[in-house]
Amino acid sequence: MADLIHLLPDHVANQIAAGEVVQRPASVVKELLENAVDAGATEIKLIVKDGGKALIQVVDDGSGMSETDARMSFERHATSKIRSAEDLFQLHTKGFRGEALASIAAIAHVDLQTRPADEEVGTHIRIEGSKIISQEAEVCPQGTSISVKNLFFNIPARRNFLKSNAVEFRHITDEFHRVALAHPGISFQFYHNGSELFHLDATTLRKRITAIFGHRMDEKLVPVEEETQVVEISGFICKPEYAKKSRGEQFFFVNDRFIKSSYLHHAVASAFEGLLKPDVHPGYFLYLQVDPNSIDINIHPTKTEVKFDDEHSLYAILRAAVKHGLGQFHLAPMLDFEKDQNLETPYAYRNKEAEVPGISVNRGFNPFEENSSRISYQGGYQKKSAEGWENLFVDLESGSQKQDSFSSVHFESEVVTGSIFPDAEGDEPSEGTTFQLRRKYIVTTIRSGMLIIDQQRAHQRVLYEKFLRSMTVKESLSQQLLFPVALHFSPNERHILAELSDHLQALGFVFEDTEDDDIAVKGLPPMVPEKEVASVLDGLISGYKQGNEGNLSQSDMLAKAMCSAVSVKTGDRMDRVSQLALVNDLFACKESMLSPFNKPIFITLTENEIDNKFK
Ligand code: ADP
Ligand code: MG
Repeated sequence: MADLIHLLPDHVANQIAAGEVVQRPASVVKELLENAVDAGATEIKLIVKDGGKALIQVVDDGSGMSETDARMSFERHATSKIRSAEDLFQLHTKGFRGEALASIAAIAHVDLQTRPADEEVGTHIRIEGSKIISQEAEVCPQGTSISVKNLFFNIPARRNFLKSNAVEFRHITDEFHRVALAHPGISFQFYHNGSELFHLDATTLRKRITAIFGHRMDEKLVPVEEETQVVEISGFICKPEYAKKSRGEQFFFVNDRFIKSSYLHHAVASAFEGLLKPDVHPGYFLYLQVDPNSIDINIHPTKTEVKFDDEHSLYAILRAAVKHGLGQFHLAPMLDFEKDQNLETPYAYRNKEAEVPGISVNRGFNPFEENSSRISYQGGYQKKSAEGWENLFVDLESGSQKQDSFSSVHFESEVVTGSIFPDAEGDEPSEGTTFQLRRKYIVTTIRSGMLIIDQQRAHQRVLYEKFLRSMTVKESLSQQLLFPVALHFSPNERHILAELSDHLQALGFVFEDTEDDDIAVKGLPPMVPEKEVASVLDGLISGYKQGNEGNLSQSDMLAKAMCSAVSVKTGDRMDRVSQLALVNDLFACKESMLSPFNKPIFITLTENEIDNKFK
């Protein structure tokens, strides 16, 4: 039989290897930035066009390369960073595989200019798809400049697979943040489509963090320091009250290399236990220094995972260090989100016998007074979370009139409406009567039996359709704020908001950029209460990030994120008028069976079914 096996030509092997190293423009950015760091640069400039699809260029003032090295650097497995397998356990550089430049050159047009300090003339090499197009001596500054154009020009399938420029740009920004945070001592500049996004001077870690995430970050940071034989931990955690719905600011660095580790994340999260509201995530910037001998970073080609020798001790030390950090700043005892003041027994009442409560009668009550239902029970217990709820049903179009009747409804004590004034119609509640069950369901009677509605899902559905409508019709109602609310967002988040600005405007948001990188909110959709605006936008951004990975349309994604952010939640008390309004609105929806997230909204229980239960 004839021999079948042959070696693949280099350019094919390189193309295949490239698939592992270069998944998207952001991977190129990471490799080039890390090479510049490894070359000992003190200033690094990143220039990107069209989300990296048109151009990625990194300019550094590092060691530069000799003519021979410049040529060698594009060979596969060519590296100056390790010589033997043992060196892998003594790594002090980011790179070591010698694959990046070879891979990038296999799938793009690459232009390299480089000059080491001890030479007067530098080298200029152009390569396209592993083929050297030209090489010449050239006068250039000390250091290296590499530009990468037309990424994936020879792999159309990969090129088509890339996401929009905006999404690719966001991935690039993430990589840039990671490298810039790992090396506060190096100065970085970042340009996208000709405008300078970041100009970071060499500084301390704390200042680097605030330079990237905004000066407001400063007040959120709490230092963490711990030195043990196994690991040295330093960095910052964000105070629990600033925890966010999006997982944005969570960074681990091991020996100055950004890593992901759900195990270490768990250690940090567990130190925050009891200090965070549900659904929010703690922020952190934690730097671990360990003996290079005790880790293996070799297990993943894109190198964001690390294997530690002694994971368990690391977990325990990290958790303790974070707890210590929280405690030192007296944060732990101060905060208590979980407790409901209304359920606390005052100390003087503990261990006392319960007494039968006296009945108090409202002597001023006159059942014939026209607006009798508006009398609010003095001293009646009013749950905070229900405040402002009435706004939620303000109709976008026929606003003012309806708002009047709703906003005058007070949240009455259930005792008043329930038992003191029984239903005039007799023993059976009339159709359209509703009540709330466990602050979760609205129960109402229908001809054939009863209907049990999930209040949160129902409201999501109502709002979802309303939001979609106002985005397509584009005739929004905006509630102007007397004093604009200043909100702070990271550049990345501002970018998302800018991308969504058309839709957000259609919903009723009015924004303005301010000088110090804040966003001033001047108008809101009528159903967003002013004090919720930060958390609503936060929810929108994180919803958008998630939605982007699937292929939802922008408006659909936005409507979903908005409706889950502002809807009534399980646990919210609703007064009768709101209950009834919700039921009516629900059945006016195009789709009243399923929530926007495809969950059933209500169930029915027919008389027959009830009868059967009694058999
Ligand atoms: P690795 O970083 O794993 O060694 P690369 O393919 O990224 O592999 O780079 C190959 C070699 O090219 C590096 O080992 C280094 O010697 C050289 N090199 C790459 N980029 C630079 C740079 N910006 N400045 C100086 N030398 C560089
Ligand atoms: Mg490298």
